[in-house]
Amino acid sequence: MDCIFCKIINGEIPKEFDYESDSLVVFPDINPSADLHLLIVPKKHIGGIRDIGENSGNLLAEVYQTVNQLVKDHNLSDNLYRVVLNGGKAQHVPHLHFHLLGGNWKRMV
Ligand code: AMP
Ligand code: ZN
Repeated sequence: MDCIFCKIINGEIPKEFDYESDSLVVFPDINPSADLHLLIVPKKHIGGIRDIGENSGNLLAEVYQTVNQLVKDHNLSDNLYRVVLNGGKAQHVPHLHFHLLGGNWKRMV
């Protein structure tokens, strides 16, 4: 499949992961919109928010637990951070992913 995030996940495009589990990977956004800009990307190809099914509960819980761990690792608890999921025309890579933005940000993602 011609999906850039699938290629990153299967190693076709080399990328160092900040974190990896059986079901997701975390790597820095190539064009950061904030001091810290990480992408949390499920390994399974899910196109976007509209493709999240009723069996996605465990995956979504793991995404937010991973966010909490990253927030701790980067000492963001008392700083500014937010999680963004773009959909529709705001989404540019058609593989479900969550942005974690921390510190000062430069623009909307
Ligand atoms: P979105 O608009 O929510 O689909 O965001 C896609 C994000 O993926 C953008 O912030 C891009 O900068 C980022 N991105 C695209 N290609 C890569 C890549 N090869 N490695 C890391 N981040 C990427
Ligand atoms: Zn994909």
